[in-house]
Amino acid sequence: SPVLVPILGDQLTRNLASLRGRTKDDTVILMMEVWDEATYVKHHKQKIVLIFSAMRHFAEELRDAGWTVDYVRLDDEDNAGSFTGEVARAIEEHLPRLVSVVEAGEWRVRQDMDQWADKFACEIEILRDDRFICTQAEFDEWAEDRDTLRMEYFYREMRRKTDLLMDGNKPEGGEWNYDSENRKPPKDGLSAPERPKFEPDDVTQECIDLVERRFGDHFGSLETFRWPVTRDEAEEAADAFFAERIECFGPYQDAMVAGEDDLFHSMLSTSINLGLLDPLELCQRAEKAYKDGKAPLNSVEGFIRQIIGWREYVRGFYWHQMPYLQKANALNAQRGLPEFYWTGETDMACLADCIRSTRDNAHAHHIQRLMVLGNFVLLAGVNPREVQDWYLVVYADAYEWVELPNVAAMILYADGGKLASKPYAASGNYINKMSDYCSGCKYSPSKKTGEGACPFNPLYWHFMHRHRERLEKNHRIGRIYSTWDRMGEEKQAEYLESAEAFLDTLEPAASGWARAPR
Ligand code: FAD
Repeated sequence: SPVLVPILGDQLTRNLASLRGRTKDDTVILMMEVWDEATYVKHHKQKIVLIFSAMRHFAEELRDAGWTVDYVRLDDEDNAGSFTGEVARAIEEHLPRLVSVVEAGEWRVRQDMDQWADKFACEIEILRDDRFICTQAEFDEWAEDRDTLRMEYFYREMRRKTDLLMDGNKPEGGEWNYDSENRKPPKDGLSAPERPKFEPDDVTQECIDLVERRFGDHFGSLETFRWPVTRDEAEEAADAFFAERIECFGPYQDAMVAGEDDLFHSMLSTSINLGLLDPLELCQRAEKAYKDGKAPLNSVEGFIRQIIGWREYVRGFYWHQMPYLQKANALNAQRGLPEFYWTGETDMACLADCIRSTRDNAHAHHIQRLMVLGNFVLLAGVNPREVQDWYLVVYADAYEWVELPNVAAMILYADGGKLASKPYAASGNYINKMSDYCSGCKYSPSKKTGEGACPFNPLYWHFMHRHRERLEKNHRIGRIYSTWDRMGEEKQAEYLESAEAFLDTLEPAASGWARAPR
């Protein structure tokens, strides 16, 4: 009897731990498109197409290489609709001596997987996902006894572990972090070389038709689907990044330009998260670009830090903080998510552009997610549950292990500051400095209150005022209150009234965008 190897939709690599060392004539690979996963939130249409198409291509690649693949399509008559149901069916059919699976990335699926040993009368082996560099035991050990878990210190451990950009025991160039060189505002007319775009092939087109048919009411456009869906395409996307964009990646990492949806970002997160690209290999390529004199240290260090720093860190943080993180709401935020997050209908030019890109591309770059979309929901006090659902739905790279720490802990400060040393709160000034949005906006960032003032200005002070008791004690932000106190009561009242008048105009989202009504 064979070994059954279930491969989940974000485990699309032949180097998967559960495949290593297996023989082809003794293994049945099980891949499943299941209704539960496609609908537990109403994912962006492009996200479902991306995952199904990448899965179908990967199954073909495995078959071509001589593996036996039992592939269950969403529309198959007997599809049980869940991983557990499908594994049960496959066990009945193939009578395996062992089920060998790599641990799920998400807590919810892992909970199910942990039941398999009790449910099924065959041996179950759950292997560590060694596509990640840091093991959970390592993270937990690092996190133990620390009140705050700062990425920067974790990152240094990962630099040592991987030996990336190390000069003996010291960081290359003398500093661990070159972020101070990576905050250039966009100059006029800043634009980046266009990234490779992949026209849908027949397999992708079939998935597009399926999604139109079965998930037609989900958020997002499909006409603009251009994601890499195979390893070869993902490699081509990575080649183009290393050849054309990594040089400016660092300096313009925080810049935003209306209509320039990618700028110098790698646009590789969807491929990395699916398993099409290996994160460590990408970092080694970045390091080589620096060593060959093709990219500056600040860009290469910045790119490597995003991957072996932030990406590894949020994953460790997620498992360390679950299930608490899902419910965390330290700032007691209760407002509903505004409807315009789904429709894009707002007069605020920055938000409108970020939501447009989100709808058209199932993507927005980091600083848009953090300092425009995230900053707004933080300042407006939107409840974490609805914000989490939104981010999980709308981005093609969104899986709970990476989305939730970024949303709950990074943008909303809902964990009370375990991850971030202060809330990422900013007024219109920041957005004006780092983007060209404000010149095309109905509101003015230099106007502080009243008609025509950028709403971020009064919202910023409303937020600071609301959370004074907690934030005043924070040495990184507490000093701001002397500015507030010096303003005098009349000015303060203007800020608070302006903010409240604006908040009153926000229409909460209709139900049914993120989750099907029960
Ligand atoms: P680049 O700017 O080119 O960065 C390179 C790589 O670094 C990315 O591909 C990604 O793998 C990694 N990376 C960078 N920042 C982070 C981070 N904060 N956390 C984890 N990995 C990071 N990323 C996701 O992959 N999925 C998500 O669901 C997701 N949700 C986010 C939600 C919020 C509120 C914020 C602020 C960030 C979120 N990110 C998420 C992180 C980041 O915005 C995206 O990884 C990035 O925009 C992807 O585009 P890119 O590949 O061009 O990234």
